[in-house]
Amino acid sequence: MPKTDVLIIGSGIAGLSFAIKTAKRFPQQNITVITKADDSESNTKYAQGGIAVVLDELTDSFEKHIEDTMRAGDGLSNREVVEMVVKEGPDRLEEIMQWGIEFDQDASGNLALGREGGHTVNRIIHFKDITGWQIEQGLLRAVAQQPNITLLSHHFSIDLITEHHFSHKISQPEPGIACYGAYVMDQRTARVEKYVSKVTLLATGGAGQIYRTTTNPIIATGDGIAMAYRAMAKVKDMEFVQFHPTAFYAQDENPSFLITEATRGHGAYLRTKDGERFMFKYDDRGEMASRDIVAKAIDHELITRGDEFVYLDCTHFSMDDFMTHFPNIYEKCLAKGIDITRQMIPVVPAAHYLCGGIEVDLFGRTSITNLYACGECSCTGLHGANRLASNSLLEALVYAHRCFLDVSEKLDEIPMHESIPEWNAEGTIVPREQILITHTRKELRDLMSDYVAIVRSNVRLERARKRLDILYHETELLYEKAVLSPQLCELRNLITIGFLITKQSQERKENRGGFYNMDLEA
Ligand code: FAD
Repeated sequence: MPKTDVLIIGSGIAGLSFAIKTAKRFPQQNITVITKADDSESNTKYAQGGIAVVLDELTDSFEKHIEDTMRAGDGLSNREVVEMVVKEGPDRLEEIMQWGIEFDQDASGNLALGREGGHTVNRIIHFKDITGWQIEQGLLRAVAQQPNITLLSHHFSIDLITEHHFSHKISQPEPGIACYGAYVMDQRTARVEKYVSKVTLLATGGAGQIYRTTTNPIIATGDGIAMAYRAMAKVKDMEFVQFHPTAFYAQDENPSFLITEATRGHGAYLRTKDGERFMFKYDDRGEMASRDIVAKAIDHELITRGDEFVYLDCTHFSMDDFMTHFPNIYEKCLAKGIDITRQMIPVVPAAHYLCGGIEVDLFGRTSITNLYACGECSCTGLHGANRLASNSLLEALVYAHRCFLDVSEKLDEIPMHESIPEWNAEGTIVPREQILITHTRKELRDLMSDYVAIVRSNVRLERARKRLDILYHETELLYEKAVLSPQLCELRNLITIGFLITKQSQERKENRGGFYNMDLEA
């Protein structure tokens, strides 16, 4: 049975930065990071815009960043959390730069600061338009230098181990539920093993794959949130799914290629198919309005005009300048047949970020003892009803640090449990037909996209709920009988995520930020 002092599930910015700190602080303890795809595959790797941090004392201040975040969150962000995250940002940035991660500089050698929608000043640290790739590679290099970190790729976490799995009574550390690690499948052997740990961190990222059009890579299936929910952890704010206004329009592409908001920060225009610049009809800030407003405006234009996409117009840019800032976007668009120096880019909104998730306190503690969560799978209260652009990498760094602080205080005192039952696969058989899984997954994406996306209504939500119920029961039957596969586990997790988004949407009684139910209009 693999035993590890600290088990980390997920190898994006949240999981890796926590791993590095913990490994440095506890050189005698084992830190295991498991991740279900290649080491680097994560939402983190695809981040383009950058990290929002207050650095320029002349133009910026903590107060301004706090107010921008509160405004984007539409009154539902927790001010204490917002203040803490914004104020700790510079230290966390400094730290990862000390680990060797570099960002773009301006002509005077200072960090170059970009702008994105919802920010009133330039404060986005970036590395060209591949900031996430730069961070992920840097973190993996730093992980490789820590001999006490074991990084296991193609290992799929199936479920958290809690006392629900025990047939015997055990002495619990505190009243309530505690976590003792996770059941994990080595995808190369299909063997499920128990990974017993003192402390477990969920850093499993978002769930964009529940929608037909998403910028999230195929790993984003909400596994951590679903596992935590099954273990009876509190999960909140799931109705707040952020749709990015501008993903490249290409039918059947998964994931959709994101055209960063920084292009609009740089002066790109949004136009209808017949060339009208429409954003000022919806908001005084035009293209610089926050994401929820821009996404809803585009959705409205598409529905009323019957078009499949709108255009993002960069043709008026100085191309030298564009190539310096957005070389990756230029190349990707060219490969898709659009020369942005002459042609406008067809774009549509796409599911991008989950503001809700596993409820955590100021130190990333979930409602389950010894289970922590940080990054996109968690709900800290920072984003409220809508995340401000480039605040999620920042949140992941700050909360990985806060989890680390709390774990550091207690790791030596937490006992390792010995009598954990093995995974029970008795009586299961290899399913004859994969179609039951692939078709249900498609059905789920369609129903969430049609009924529980940018615009919702009471009827749509009720329909979604009923259909989800059917998918849930059919999939549970399959799960009980079948030899497990990552595909089946992901489907099961996505159905749970769909249920949580729909149920919490039905419970919300007013429109805020990224949540819009047309029946709640005044
Ligand atoms: P991730 O980076 O998604 O990592 C999750 C990890 O968990 C992965 O390694 C995955 O394989 C693993 N995992 C999941 N389930 C399991 C399982 N069952 N078993 C084992 N492993 C599992 N944010 C910004 O702040 N600025 C930006 O400019 C920005 N741009 C973005 C652009 C794109 C295209 C996308 C998709 C997102 C962007 N975001 C941006 C959002 C940001 O990238 C993510 O919110 C952030 O990277 C999440 O980090 P994370 O560590 O929480 O999760």
